Amino acid sequence: MPIELDDYDVSIIKSLSKDGRKSFRQVSRETGITTPTVKARFERLQNIGFIKAVVPLIDFGKVENRIPISELQIDNQTQRMKKIKRGIKILLDCDFCRGTIAGDPQVLRFANYERFFCCTSCKSEYKKKYGGRIEAIEKRHITNI
Ligand SMILES: [Zn+2]
Repeated sequence: MPIELDDYDVSIIKSLSKDGRKSFRQVSRETGITTPTVKARFERLQNIGFIKAVVPLIDFGKVENRIPISELQIDNQTQRMKKIKRGIKILLDCDFCRGTIAGDPQVLRFANYERFFCCTSCKSEYKKKYGGRIEAIEKRHITNI
């Protein structure tokens, strides 16, 4: 007999579709379904083979275009890179002004995040704009360790 997806399954799948690595607790907070139920439903969906894998979603638009697409060996159907090779260059956009970062990026690290900027003023403007949020994230990160 087939298993019929209910609202819980659908909510959990939708939540994980945005970020498959979020914790069951995070999914629980987003969906209002208890953490043990989220865990049980996820495991069942995995056990029946409906969730086959949680895999990284690669943005090929960020690969420096000097590399011909044929060298990347991208499977046209799945859009997955068959062979990740060393030397592939990933373009960086400034996390403040969104412009392409030409030289070495200015890096801001907090909790388990890294943010990249084209210049020191973008970095300091970002810190000014999101200071409160960064502080809250750091506080949460420390208490979770
Ligand atoms: Zn910038």
